[in-house]
Amino acid sequence: MPRTPRRPAGRHARTKNVVAAGELDSPFVEPDRPFRACGVVPTLRNSPLAGATGRREPIMIDNMPVKTLVHKGLTIEGYSRAAVQTYWRLPELKIGFDLGGQPWSFMGTSTWFVSHAHLDHLAALPVYVARRRMMKMDPPVIYLPTVAVEPVQKILRQFTRLDRGRLPCELRGVEPGAEIELSREHVVSVTQTVHTVPSLGFVVWERRRKLRPQYHGLTGPQIRDLRLGGADVTEERRMPRFAYLGDSAPAGLDNCPAMLEAEVLVLEMTFVAPSHRKDKIHKFGHIHLDDIRDRREQFHNELIIASHFSTRYTSKRIQRLVERAIPDMLDGRLHLWL
Ligand SMILES: [Zn+2]
Ligand SMILES: [Zn+2]
Repeated sequence: MPRTPRRPAGRHARTKNVVAAGELDSPFVEPDRPFRACGVVPTLRNSPLAGATGRREPIMIDNMPVKTLVHKGLTIEGYSRAAVQTYWRLPELKIGFDLGGQPWSFMGTSTWFVSHAHLDHLAALPVYVARRRMMKMDPPVIYLPTVAVEPVQKILRQFTRLDRGRLPCELRGVEPGAEIELSREHVVSVTQTVHTVPSLGFVVWERRRKLRPQYHGLTGPQIRDLRLGGADVTEERRMPRFAYLGDSAPAGLDNCPAMLEAEVLVLEMTFVAPSHRKDKIHKFGHIHLDDIRDRREQFHNELIIASHFSTRYTSKRIQRLVERAIPDMLDGRLHLWL
């Protein structure tokens, strides 16, 4: 995973002026998964506020809605409504997608992929960076469309002026076609999506080294001898485990076959009402329920999560309209993130 070296604790010293909202409640995020990733476990003992509160109990702050679903050992957490906020996280892979909001429990995740710079996907970036600094955690690494890097840097500088607290983070611009190595086992590929601003989708691949087919009939010692003789007996195999479309017209899906093959696909289905015109929806870079129904044969995913519903629909209405259009819910694979 791309990491920046830990800074000495002294460099994180807070100025007198930085008293963020909620700071007097001792900040504490879930103690297990997320914090292993950053090497800093903010317990009350090492929290800058330990002395101030005298509390001993961990405090979990529930500041934003988070829904969770586990599929074959992969946990998907998040929330997404159009024009409200979108954020997703895969805790096992220590990555997240979009920063439209930032649940307190997501803070320990240090690598993020931002699909595009609409506010409902980006607005929480400064608070996320500030919280990590406050908690003496490593500066996060945030991948985002290249065109967004400079404006976001400027925004962060302005917040630093107002807040008088540094906002250390690494913003890395990415383009369609790029590949980001998360670890030996996982790679993220970047794909072009179709929206009203430059936008990206992401596919998370699991990669393994497997014996090349021509060596399949050989015994263990024979393979060992080949290896010792310098032959590369294995080859890389990749499997798309998770795909995140972000905001996009259907062309964003059609352009990326791996999205349709990924075990889990998170896509947007902003519009569901039959009366909402598809040509207009596509022009504004979104997907209608009918687009999903029309592509049913193309989805080879085990789980398809539909999200980012417009606020003009209630949850009940979304459910009713989707079930009417796709009664079998794509053989039970379609899950509405409500
Ligand atoms: Zn959106
Ligand atoms: Zn958008």
